[in-house]
Amino acid sequence: MGNNYLNEHISNLKGVGEKTSKLFEKCGVRTVGDLLSYYPRCYDGFDAPVRACDVRPGQMNAVKLTIIGSIVKRRVRNLSIIAFEAGDQTGKIKMTYFNAPYLASSLKSGTTHIFRGMVQKKGSFYTMDQPKMYSQEEYASLSGRLMPRYPLVKGLTNNAVTKAMEQAFINVGSLDEYVPSDILDRLSLINYFDALRCIHFPENDKRLEDARRRLAYDEFLLFVLKLRLLKMTQEEISNSFPMVEVSETRRLLEQLPYKLTGAQMAAWNDILSDISGSSVMNRLIQGDVGSGKTVIALLALLTAAANGYQGALMAPTEVLAAQHFESFKELIEKYNIQHLKPVLLTGALSAKDKKEAQRQISEGEANCIIGTNALIQAKVNYKNLALVVTDEQHRFGVRQREALAGKGLNTHVLAMSATPIPRTLAIILYGDLHISVINELPGGRLPIKNCVVGTEYRPTAYKFIKDQVEAGRQAYVICPMIEEGEMDGVTNVTDYTQVLKDNLPPSINVAMLHGKMKPAEKDAIMEAFARRDIDVLVSTTVIEVGINVPNATVMMIENAERFGLSQLHQLRGRVGRGKHQSYCIFLNTSEGDDAKKRLEIMNKTNDGFKIAEEDLLQRGPGDLFGVRQSGDLNFRLGDIYHDADLVKESAMDADRILSSDPELSLPQYSVLKDKIATKSANLVDFATL
Ligand code: ADP
Ligand code: MG
Repeated sequence: MGNNYLNEHISNLKGVGEKTSKLFEKCGVRTVGDLLSYYPRCYDGFDAPVRACDVRPGQMNAVKLTIIGSIVKRRVRNLSIIAFEAGDQTGKIKMTYFNAPYLASSLKSGTTHIFRGMVQKKGSFYTMDQPKMYSQEEYASLSGRLMPRYPLVKGLTNNAVTKAMEQAFINVGSLDEYVPSDILDRLSLINYFDALRCIHFPENDKRLEDARRRLAYDEFLLFVLKLRLLKMTQEEISNSFPMVEVSETRRLLEQLPYKLTGAQMAAWNDILSDISGSSVMNRLIQGDVGSGKTVIALLALLTAAANGYQGALMAPTEVLAAQHFESFKELIEKYNIQHLKPVLLTGALSAKDKKEAQRQISEGEANCIIGTNALIQAKVNYKNLALVVTDEQHRFGVRQREALAGKGLNTHVLAMSATPIPRTLAIILYGDLHISVINELPGGRLPIKNCVVGTEYRPTAYKFIKDQVEAGRQAYVICPMIEEGEMDGVTNVTDYTQVLKDNLPPSINVAMLHGKMKPAEKDAIMEAFARRDIDVLVSTTVIEVGINVPNATVMMIENAERFGLSQLHQLRGRVGRGKHQSYCIFLNTSEGDDAKKRLEIMNKTNDGFKIAEEDLLQRGPGDLFGVRQSGDLNFRLGDIYHDADLVKESAMDADRILSSDPELSLPQYSVLKDKIATKSANLVDFATL
């Protein structure tokens, strides 16, 4: 049925009813096209079965065992339970199945099967709950195959997604290729539809990597094409909001307790010359965590205000927006800044407060509007918006630019990012859009002390946290997951909060923070942490971006091996922001040498650019899946470090295509053109834009 079928609603798929559709919608999947681009987060392999004595508890294992003794069937309330033991010469394992009466007939003492599932160690024996059971022939036919594991929401099973996916591929049949064949040949990239099928159902590791590479290339090509097209239209935009340097910023710079670093000063001068120049500003400020980007934003916003305009500061989270608002208010009071009238506008405000904020914005009473991305999407009427600053966007503000253009606004845009993209890559990705690099940290900071440790160190770490808290400091503890069960053997915020409460004296206040909480709840927690009402904050990576609590001196990262190095660096950047010595504990739960070697890099350096480079050198293709909720430009399959060659190639291809056909009007580019124009996530994977 091809491309047209992609817009069909998923409920048209066999086996996807109303209830499942709703669950899919929660994951952002509405159409068949959305479904096909709902990529697995990892894959299960069918390794050769092991002996009972070789199982690794806490992990997926396939074991070849013979059922021993009798099969015990029980009922507990409305649960039917089947239990038995299975073993080989080297040991035995207790098996339990719930509500699986259909199994009863195939379970016979003396028969041999492959049991595949999670092994737990309970006391002195091993157990497996609900392992999948295969005959030896069945298992042999699967060996080497990879099964997709999808991101899920409660109620949606991996099996349901897999089934729907299979159905979708059958119905779609095939999809058109849209990348010119000479490019595919040159880079040895596989066909688009093959790649899409393989990313879901790879026959083996090699095919999976081929698929990922192909789809990564597409992400880069579309990204670069879109940027180039935008840039062409932008260059013609003249500066409708010319500004001059004002005395207030000079006075503020004199009064601040510190002097701007050379790099901060250079960035600030770049901005001044942009906004007073002849065309609209489009600048990326790239500065490592803690390099002092906020004050640069403040200077720019103050300049806009003093020139009689409005400016907006957009943060990626409500928590960060609220924090910026508070710190601006404090500075305004402390340094008696006259012109800047900030207002906070976030979803967490009450309807009444929102209305009042909107009034102040439309009437021009407020001239520094702080909030999340919603600031430019929602129905906010600005009186005379001239500058938009985006904080911690990890990417150039293309989306913002588009949304603003959609509102008929040609404001100056200043994007601030802490992602240390090597400069050469940044120039390739962004073309020659303007970039200022803050590659210098403010002086007088004590370097963070690091350690990479194993799980046996946990009690020592808790004691260390206790001592720091008793000395008046605060601590962050990061876990990859929110709740149990999302992934095996990985710590989660909910349970870990309890563990810490149990392990720390009751006088120490432990609280949790994660992305699924209501905005108001998150704000309340962050504020309490900033006020020091909370001593230890257990959190997911939601705190990765920008939070500034200088009194926090300990960052403990659980399952550190699960994060990308750049992400670990961002997390670490939450401490070491004040005058006290700070510490970062990387807790490595993996036994392999690779993880240890990778984490040792964090031990060696606190320099984000160095870390990004090392990360690039060390990561293998296998690291590109999994818990990588990375901030690095957020391509879904592409990784600018690992795939640096593809980034370069795609940029060259984009330039070549556009030089021969600047409007993409040739028939061979029609699908490409559609993909760039498509706003929805469907097909285009514009997660990045
Ligand atoms: P980031 O670049 O990560 O956003 P922030 O702007 O939050 O960093 O700055 C981190 C801390 O450094 C803040 O407490 C800020 O007041 C302080 N700071 C900024 N610039 C300087 C400087 N030049 N000298 C000393 N401290 C500075
Ligand atoms: Mg910041």
